[in-house]
Amino acid sequence: MSKDDCIFCKIANGEIPSATVYEDSICRVILDVNPANKGHALVIPKEHYDNIYSMDADTASKIFTIATEVAKAQKAELNPDGLNIVQNNGEVAGQTVFHFHMHVIPRYKGDNVNIKWLPEKPDSDELDALSKALRKRI
Ligand code: AMP
Ligand code: ZN
Repeated sequence: MSKDDCIFCKIANGEIPSATVYEDSICRVILDVNPANKGHALVIPKEHYDNIYSMDADTASKIFTIATEVAKAQKAELNPDGLNIVQNNGEVAGQTVFHFHMHVIPRYKGDNVNIKWLPEKPDSDELDALSKALRKRI
């Protein structure tokens, strides 16, 4: 999809109206139209990044800083019991809008949100080898 057809480019830059809870020169925070829970917000950069892999460190820091502010506002307003920050990259990971965004999802006891996986049990040699390989790349 080209940036011209990208719905989050249009929303982030104010060409399509949205339930905006915060805006500055870098990003807009909106309420999700189909929320997982009451207060589910999306932090969307105004610049188009398909996903996390193309995002620069400054924008990433800004996005996370704003997500922490959103979390605190949700806490003050909605008094949730917990919170998930979710950020999907690629279809296999559940990404449906291919303009980077960070979900800030308040959690309430007994809600219907399910973010769970079956834990694997790698041996310590495998963890060791992989940590060394990744360490070289950071
Ligand atoms: P993801 O699956 O991580 O790509 O998340 C996309 C999210 O965007 C979903 O939670 C949708 O409900 C939400 N969404 C899609 N279109 C809109 C829109 N026009 N306004 C607000 N949220 C939207
Ligand atoms: Zn876009």
